Amino acid sequence: MRPIIKSNKLDSVCYDIRGPVHKEARRLEDEGHRILKLNIGNPAPFGFEAPEEIVRDVILNLPSAQGYCESKGLFSARKAIVQHYQSQGIFGVDIEDVYIGNGVSELIVMAMQGLLNTDDEVLIPSPDYPLWTAAVNLSGGKAQHYRCDEEADWFPDLDDIRAKITPRTRALVLINPNNPTGAVYSKALLLEAIEICREHHLILFADEIYDKILYDEAQHVPAASLSDDILTVTFNGLSKSYRAAGFRVGWMMLSGNLKAAKSYIEGLEMLASMRLCANVPNQHAIQTALGGYQSINELVINEGRLKVQRDTCIELLNSIPGISVKCPKGAMYAFPKLDKRFNIRDDERLVLDLLKEKKILLVHGTAFNWPEPDHLRVVFLPHKEDLEKALTEFGDFMDGYRQ
Ligand code: PLP
Repeated sequence: MRPIIKSNKLDSVCYDIRGPVHKEARRLEDEGHRILKLNIGNPAPFGFEAPEEIVRDVILNLPSAQGYCESKGLFSARKAIVQHYQSQGIFGVDIEDVYIGNGVSELIVMAMQGLLNTDDEVLIPSPDYPLWTAAVNLSGGKAQHYRCDEEADWFPDLDDIRAKITPRTRALVLINPNNPTGAVYSKALLLEAIEICREHHLILFADEIYDKILYDEAQHVPAASLSDDILTVTFNGLSKSYRAAGFRVGWMMLSGNLKAAKSYIEGLEMLASMRLCANVPNQHAIQTALGGYQSINELVINEGRLKVQRDTCIELLNSIPGISVKCPKGAMYAFPKLDKRFNIRDDERLVLDLLKEKKILLVHGTAFNWPEPDHLRVVFLPHKEDLEKALTEFGDFMDGYRQ
């Protein structure tokens, strides 16, 4: 039989968080090794379980959730999403402007498929959450990466954004709070980014999936609350703030200049209806999640477990000679820098070597479309004791490591 070759649409598509390193970790697990996983932002397996009331709502509604629903999602869930955003100062949004998907991931791909023609460009942060780049490339577009500046608390470099705009640029992506850097953007920064969109007729895609995971009194400002004249597409879901990543529930909401987006909206409606609808039972969690008691707050303030783990992670990373890290103000990741003494030329190799020697799994920085092999991403979801063990071992490993 002739070899069966994958589509060339995938030639420029890359998603390394679950790539070769992840596969190698699974192979080692199959051999019986215990791997300390600091690689994936999946809260529940680390004991960060979803609020009980949302689990109960799904169970309660299961018998009546056997059929398909509207392509955009259940009325009650979309109504709850609209009301939630109204309470955040975003007005003029109707339930028809909300699309529920099987996680934000599905909706990011849908939003790009519905927008891009060959070689259309989208401005994406570097480092990024790599699905954004993958989805743009899969849709025939080109990801133009703009720099986030480590020396400016990882804020986007607005001059770099401006310099990368061309006649083919269609949209700007902001991930706030940010994965992998943990940056939380100020209102002033958001207003400047919106002004760029206004000037250049760009859509603003605001990925705000970590909007409730905030430390040190950081405030999250929803981008959509700051303008009503550009098209803003806001993404959020239950995976992180509500610790229900396995439910695969996310949503996107269109706001602002919807009139100008009539054709794009028709495209999105077509794509939403082609996949019939998202998982119905788990949409029943949305109303309670958005309206109910938000137990995430207890995890991120004072001596809350996630806050303590963040502090432990940052302190231990900064204590390793040659490694420095900005303190994340949101999300669940640290993105430390490795200085030149290590002479790293291949950061994936480094992650594989660490995995082999210490059975600790991290993700290399270039997997996040960071241009230099000098960063890693560390997930601080494991318990304090596991983090201490892993990062002490990591420090010992780096002590002798040179490429
Ligand atoms: N956006 C960002 C910034 C993420 O970090 C993730 C998951 O890690 C997603 C989107 C995808 O989330 P979901 O589980 O809703 O597909």
